[in-house]
Amino acid sequence: MPDPSHHDRVTNTSGAVGSVGDGERKHVVIVGASLAGLRSAEALRAHGFVGRLTIVGDEGSAPYDRPPLSKQYLSGAWGEEKLWLRARGFDELNLDLQLNVRAESLDVASLALSTSTGDIAFDGLVIATGARPRRLPEPLDHGDHAVVRTKAHSDELRDKLRDGAKVVVIGAGFIGAEVAATARCRGCEVTILEAAPLPLERQLGPDMAGVCAGLHERNGVTLHTGVTIVATTAKSVTLADGRSFAADVVVVGVGVQPNIEWLQGSGLTLGNGIECDETCRAAPSIVAVGDVACWPNARYDERARVEHWTNAAEMAEHGAATLLADLNGTPEAALSYMPVPYFWSDQYATKIQFLGRVGGFDEVRVVAGAADSGKLLALYRRGDRVVGALGLSMPRHVMAYRRLLLENASWREALASVPVAKAPGA
Ligand SMILES: Cc1cc2nc3c(=O)[nH]c(=O)nc-3n(C[C@H](O)[C@H](O)[C@H](O)COP(=O)(O)OP(=O)(O)OC[C@H]3O[C@@H](n4cnc5c(N)ncnc54)[C@H](O)[C@@H]3O)c2cc1C
Repeated sequence: MPDPSHHDRVTNTSGAVGSVGDGERKHVVIVGASLAGLRSAEALRAHGFVGRLTIVGDEGSAPYDRPPLSKQYLSGAWGEEKLWLRARGFDELNLDLQLNVRAESLDVASLALSTSTGDIAFDGLVIATGARPRRLPEPLDHGDHAVVRTKAHSDELRDKLRDGAKVVVIGAGFIGAEVAATARCRGCEVTILEAAPLPLERQLGPDMAGVCAGLHERNGVTLHTGVTIVATTAKSVTLADGRSFAADVVVVGVGVQPNIEWLQGSGLTLGNGIECDETCRAAPSIVAVGDVACWPNARYDERARVEHWTNAAEMAEHGAATLLADLNGTPEAALSYMPVPYFWSDQYATKIQFLGRVGGFDEVRVVAGAADSGKLLALYRRGDRVVGALGLSMPRHVMAYRRLLLENASWREALASVPVAKAPGA
């Protein structure tokens, strides 16, 4: 049975909700049977929605967790039974879970959804269709390159990660780095090819991105950065400088794109995902949540789409509250969704965790541990405020900063709160 506690969860930031007065007569449909879709259903029921609830998902299995697909499940350490997001079943949610059903179009004006098995009328809609791996541009894209988004992808790749196999990973973002680390742990000979001068620089800033890049070298994985790929086959990659890398398997990890094509012409605003207002509302009685949703996070004065587990879970709860406000006829009761973003990544023996957002920071300071010790806590400053906290294998200490980030605490206060200042490396 899966234990959701293996995730480093940050609890909900959502606000007030109420039960739906005439909810028993209403029908809420959720499109996307994964983390955000399931959490939306759970939140709707938890907040008193007693009407009909339908989840439509185009995958064939019950909602499962994706983070282990590049880590414990890919390595073989975990079996399938640890992936299920709701091992205790769906009975208490009293919902109609329609698997292998694809939503094909939406008409916002008439509140009608067309699916591969027929039309569904609804009163409220949650869109949680997530994202899919971005492919290499033509003519570099090759059908035999591996990607990791689904359980089937992970199953297929695991079979190829045999001891001594040559693995070339294109892209050193989180998924690419995790696959590289897992492949290395399975005894593969791993090379990572990254177009940027430094992977994760946008997410972590140059200094800390450099520290994370160093993990690969320390673990026997070769990382080539600043490269341009000019040709690929199923089993090779050639660079503009003439170098060529033979592989038993080529893995592509160059980011994801939101699943929004089915919404063309629906009446929703599409851009970098589904464009929502600050409450997660895409249109009256329609919310979008998780990897597919883009919204203005007033905390950072920016419109963003976040592709991390904790956001999918938190945004689902918040979106459910907004939807209930609409169904209750009190849309003005919906609150702004203003989370402090959080993500983690497990690479080799290191747990990387980041709280906050670093765009435009003025300083990053290592306040505990050290880059070469494998344990480190770094704080990010913008002006006189703390805006981020990065931990390498310091889980408790990173999470201690969440409250300060939520409170927009001062840099001085953040430094005074360093929990391990007197015990570096603790
Ligand atoms: C390999 C991997 C490792 C990860 N590791 C981490 C990690 O360590 N830390 C972290 O913070 N985050 C991690 N993530 C990210 C995290 O898993 C995602 O943020 C999360 O899954 C997003 O959930 P979601 O429900 O919004 O979207 P998804 O999980 O993408 O689910 C969307 C669902 O909707 C379905 N769908 C799409 N279109 C339709 C349609 N038209 N009709 C019906 N169904 C449709 C999809 O098939 C899918 O089942 C990882 C992701 C992957 C893939």
